[in-house]
Amino acid sequence: MPIAASSPTPSDAEELRALRDLVRSIVDRELLPLEPQVRAEGGLSAELRLTLEERVRALDLWALDVPEELGGQGLGLTATTAVNEELARCTFPTIRAPLIIGGAAGILINCNEQQRPLYLDPVVRGERHAAFALTEPDSGSDAVGLMRTTAVRDGDDWVLNGSKLYVSNTSMSDLLQVMAVTDPGRGAAGVSCFLVPRDAPGVEVSYLDLMIPEKPAEVFLADCRVPASSMLGEQGEGMALAQAWLRNNRLFHSAKCIGRAQRALELAVEFARTRVSFGKPIGERQAIQFMIADSAIDLHVARTALYRCTGRIDAGLPAGDEIPMVKVTANEGAWRTVDRCMQILGGLGLSRELPMEQIFREVRSMRITEGTTEIHRWRIARNILKEDRWPSVV
Ligand SMILES: Cc1cc2nc3c(=O)[nH]c(=O)nc-3n(C[C@H](O)[C@H](O)[C@H](O)COP(=O)(O)OP(=O)(O)OC[C@H]3O[C@@H](n4cnc5c(N)ncnc54)[C@H](O)[C@@H]3O)c2cc1C
Repeated sequence: MPIAASSPTPSDAEELRALRDLVRSIVDRELLPLEPQVRAEGGLSAELRLTLEERVRALDLWALDVPEELGGQGLGLTATTAVNEELARCTFPTIRAPLIIGGAAGILINCNEQQRPLYLDPVVRGERHAAFALTEPDSGSDAVGLMRTTAVRDGDDWVLNGSKLYVSNTSMSDLLQVMAVTDPGRGAAGVSCFLVPRDAPGVEVSYLDLMIPEKPAEVFLADCRVPASSMLGEQGEGMALAQAWLRNNRLFHSAKCIGRAQRALELAVEFARTRVSFGKPIGERQAIQFMIADSAIDLHVARTALYRCTGRIDAGLPAGDEIPMVKVTANEGAWRTVDRCMQILGGLGLSRELPMEQIFREVRSMRITEGTTEIHRWRIARNILKEDRWPSVV
């Protein structure tokens, strides 16, 4: 398994390997056997989710990415990314949340002393979940330039109006982190973040039916009044907080993509070993071997880029310019992999007997979420063309 190239001392590397092995064995022994049941029931039941959450808590695998002083375990980015990758071999939609809080609740880390017991601590303890609401019906890639949701100060309150689209995890969340324009005309510096209870007056939620298991929501805000104390960070700081968190989340997202594709490859390899045609297992045919080899290469390249980047960030080295490259490499390498695996599995890959068809749909969607591959390519080219910024070679 890959270990970050630059940061860990040997003992860090050993700890990282042990953590990876532990998570992998939980996935193999405890989660994958439940997959057929979860798929048959159309998702993870609340009861089973609670049981699994208790299990990972008992193993002390809780809030790995939250700093120790905030009640978490303070693991570095490489370790939390590796946990994300391992968990992604299992196709349950929600088991990741208790281990890695930062999935949707990452910017809550910026709560002040008064906000912490109300908002952050219950999330760290696993009692509550939070969703992140930036995208709107008219503003996806151009999230700030076309943002229409506003927050207007009225006495001791802010009054929010607008709507947010594709808000993941809304159904399980009690809290929404809503980005809204507080200072029109100031671009990113005019956007602030508000902590809005999902059941606050003026909040309406409608779930979307997409081709993936995840059912994000459209959230409508009509004269939704929240106290001034529910602003996260300072006025105009919302996008800066979100960007810092999105940086890590894009790496977690890349790890998820690689984990899902790894699972697809394992399914395809197992099938290629045993499926016989014209007197031989198909795995003995070069056409199939090349698809397996090309997939293994794609995943190796994606992992190498990913863990080089997390290793540099953990070591305090500049790596921001590598993040869009990692995201594109992981998304597209994983997509090529699942497409080949689908081909190797033949008709079985299309059936709902295996999780392959779900992985196929999910990995396809990941080229769009957390910034589309076009937007990430645009950023890479802009850095080079305008600022002569290239990722460092060593
Ligand atoms: C399943 C799912 C979960 C999500 N979860 C969340 C969430 O929890 N919170 C949240 O706030 N958002 C969430 N999103 C929103 C997600 O971040 C956006 O969908 C994404 O940023 C793309 O925006 P868009 O869909 O509006 O596409 P658009 O921005 O409308 O883009 C449409 C197409 O145009 C291309 N394009 C746009 N601008 C350019 C350009 N300058 N150059 C070249 N091509 C361009 C895009 O690459 C894309 O191909 C989620 C989306 C999905 C599908």
